Amino acid sequence: MTSFAELNALPAEQLSNLNELGYLTMTPVQAAALPAILAGKDVRAQAKTGSGKTAAFGLGLLQRIDAKQFNTQSLVLCPTRELADQVANELRRLARYIPNIKILTLCGGVPFSIQRDSLNHAAHIIVATPGRLLDHLKRQTVNLDALQTLVLDEADRMLDMGFFDAIDEVIANAPAERQTLLFSATWPEAITAISQRIQHDPLTIEINSVDELPAVEQQFYEVSRNGKIDLLQKLLSRDQPASCVVFCNTKKDCQEVFDALNDSHQSVLALHGDMEQRDRDQTLVRFANGSSRVLVATDVASRGLDIKALEMVINYELSWDPEVHVHRIGRTARAGESGLAISLCAPGEAQRANVLEEMLNMKLNWLPVPTGLQITPLEATMATLCIDGGKKAKMRAGDILGALTGDVGLDGADIGKIVLHPMHAYVAVKQSVAASAWKKLQQGKIKGKTVKARLLK
Ligand code: ADP
Ligand code: MG
Repeated sequence: MTSFAELNALPAEQLSNLNELGYLTMTPVQAAALPAILAGKDVRAQAKTGSGKTAAFGLGLLQRIDAKQFNTQSLVLCPTRELADQVANELRRLARYIPNIKILTLCGGVPFSIQRDSLNHAAHIIVATPGRLLDHLKRQTVNLDALQTLVLDEADRMLDMGFFDAIDEVIANAPAERQTLLFSATWPEAITAISQRIQHDPLTIEINSVDELPAVEQQFYEVSRNGKIDLLQKLLSRDQPASCVVFCNTKKDCQEVFDALNDSHQSVLALHGDMEQRDRDQTLVRFANGSSRVLVATDVASRGLDIKALEMVINYELSWDPEVHVHRIGRTARAGESGLAISLCAPGEAQRANVLEEMLNMKLNWLPVPTGLQITPLEATMATLCIDGGKKAKMRAGDILGALTGDVGLDGADIGKIVLHPMHAYVAVKQSVAASAWKKLQQGKIKGKTVKARLLK
């Protein structure tokens, strides 16, 4: 079974919505999980990042929502705010055809008072991080008495982050009779134990990630540890990727690689676990909107992030864990598109390469280090304006677009993605016009108010 229609459970409006979204066939995890989920059964599923797990549980829980009842019927728990935002966005896309459905995210980093106000009318679906949800339960600003579906997304990561006590407390506030769905990219022992504790006779699904590997072209280069930065720069110059993530095993490497690329004027940003939430948000927005072509990241910082259309992944160092390698390279091949994954291996990483070869059951594609390559820095096409005042100030994308094409005098084609966060709006504009647009914008007004904006550098 491959088409959504064959499920015989989704309404025609949803089928045409899926068609508009370009979801023409089910991904393997969707095909395996949806029949049981739609039948109301508990499911635990392991499938790699990018395999479409969100729609697998999303289509299920949306089918059970009665939008006329103003209570919370579904709860999705996620490890981080970025992941919760991504899940909520995907659910909104999947729910486009349901009138008056309310989907709310509850995560740290947003003032409690704002969230309390938006809870005056209960949301049908809440997407939350465990800690913040627990705060709301304690203050009785959220009530789970009518909960039908509970989803734990990225369960392995929530486990790593020590969220399971909080999750137990959340569950103590939920009805015993409910559907519980558990999704994870990896499946450590401890997750089985949790599943046994909180699920009822679950269907277990395991989608072997190795099967899907061939869509990614892999290149391996042997290079001394000291020669890696130079080779990295040359390969970036050779391939000119529009977007590339460079994975490092440590924060220290992450910083060093970032500094080196930045010093040679490459368009680059870094993402690692020590950053403030706000800097992380900004980095992700800027990378996704084309203001930076290279993102240097650690695994922890980047896991589960849905960065669309990544052309290239570079492993600055092989991971010790073949699973992690598979996750890294899988990011260039979202939903069937092909990508290129390059690994730079120092002689000391030979053992890791052997393990990888064995686990992937394929011959690693070792290539000679190319000679005669020049370094030509990658330049981004866009730059990001950060405007004070976001969703909370009731700012809309149309207001910003209006100001930029009106007073500021930009052409529509000069303007890229507009993303609204609670306190800020991020607008991508062409590099060539960014500085002048920024100046003019500050002399103008949006919704009758003077504008405070920064050009992110
Ligand atoms: P996961 O949670 O498994 O990491 P996501 O749910 O974030 O993966 O999905 C990855 C990407 O695949 C998203 O961009 C999503 O829009 C897309 N996607 C999901 N299901 C389908 C489908 N059936 N057809 C095409 N694209 C899909
Ligand atoms: Mg996911």
